[in-house]
Amino acid sequence: MTAVTTDPTSGGSRSMNDAHRVLVLNSGSSSVKYQLLDMRDRSRLATGLVERIGESSSRLVHTPLKGGEPRERAGRIADHEEALRAAAEELAADGLGLDSPELAAIGHRVVHGGLKFSEPTVITDEVLKEIERLVPVAPLHNPANITGIRTAQALRPDLPQVAVFDTAFHTTMPEHAARYAIDVETADAHRIRRYGFHGTSHAYVSRRTAELLGRPVAELNMIVLHLGNGASASAVAGGRCVETSMGLTPLEGLVMGTRSGDVDPAVTFHLKRVAGMSTDEIDTLLNKRSGLVGLCGDNDMREIRRRVDEGDERAALAFDIYIHRLKKYVGAYSAVLGRVDAVVFTAGVGENSAPVREAALAGLEGFGLAVDADRNAVRSGEPRLISPEDARVAVAVVPTDEELEIAGQTFELVHN
Ligand code: AMP
Repeated sequence: MTAVTTDPTSGGSRSMNDAHRVLVLNSGSSSVKYQLLDMRDRSRLATGLVERIGESSSRLVHTPLKGGEPRERAGRIADHEEALRAAAEELAADGLGLDSPELAAIGHRVVHGGLKFSEPTVITDEVLKEIERLVPVAPLHNPANITGIRTAQALRPDLPQVAVFDTAFHTTMPEHAARYAIDVETADAHRIRRYGFHGTSHAYVSRRTAELLGRPVAELNMIVLHLGNGASASAVAGGRCVETSMGLTPLEGLVMGTRSGDVDPAVTFHLKRVAGMSTDEIDTLLNKRSGLVGLCGDNDMREIRRRVDEGDERAALAFDIYIHRLKKYVGAYSAVLGRVDAVVFTAGVGENSAPVREAALAGLEGFGLAVDADRNAVRSGEPRLISPEDARVAVAVVPTDEELEIAGQTFELVHN
């Protein structure tokens, strides 16, 4: 790569070898999140969010991070193309336009990569077709990701576009962990198996934890608990995922903000036969009206803790169900791994909620697990240990950064 010494915000006629910026796009069904990063020092240049796309109350919030105030646009943004064009205009207003020769690539978060994609992949027509073929197993997510990719391709047809898959980190799961115990022919005909999600976060956090411990990731067995509005656990042995809690879709596993996590599958036919609910109604119930929100009406852990502290019984039961499920997974993954070197908390709840961390590991001293109350109470954006000094198993809080991981994987692939 040619040495880059000039002001990162300047444009100019430089060769593609000077390109050092990556735009990360995370396209949801009605939202687009974006971040522009400078890969020379892995810093953020700008971030933004377009939400409620297609509604009259659409909103774009753009935050320049190297000087300048956040800016907001309100009013209908019809579709993803308009959203991305609006984001591009905001970036251009900061001297960070997508036409800049300093932009090396666009990295897309793609939720479902099936079994085929275990690595970040430069998007070709064939790759896009395969992402489309996976729509039946990711009907909510992959169509939005495809729209984001097509729109970005239209804006910069000459630029490498890279897909970074949420499922990729989990493709190392052994067959005995990935398969459901259902009829093999039926499962294979419909690609039914456990894929796992949040993989970019689990990959990033397990690597950062090894750095925190000052040991090679190859030597470590870890349980990573990604507790955000969506939540998942994974067992990582020597840097490779061997088990994770989400399955065919992100519905399986832990209790989440609005998703039930594990339920007896017979609940679904029971609701159909006895309650007369349609498939779509059951889908909405389990994905949007369950989990913490279904149990107590709130999905924000801050609010739930506030209610618990005021003696609210529904909130207390919701908290206890959430913690009980988490503890079951920590125990199960300890058995899967045989030896655990670290348990790591990440994402919105994992990084910020000391009561969740304390309760999740309470009573697990027999597993070598303990949380030091003073260390747990510290609020920080840095990776840190919260286990006592002499603990057999390290307990850590490691902030996740999926956008940085996507940018890093994207840049590594296109940069030579
Ligand atoms: P994420 O999906 O990773 O952005 O996490 C979002 C969730 O994190 C919210 O729904 C809250 O439940 C939780 N959260 C965020 N900040 C805090 C906090 N300070 N204390 C407890 N929970 C928090």
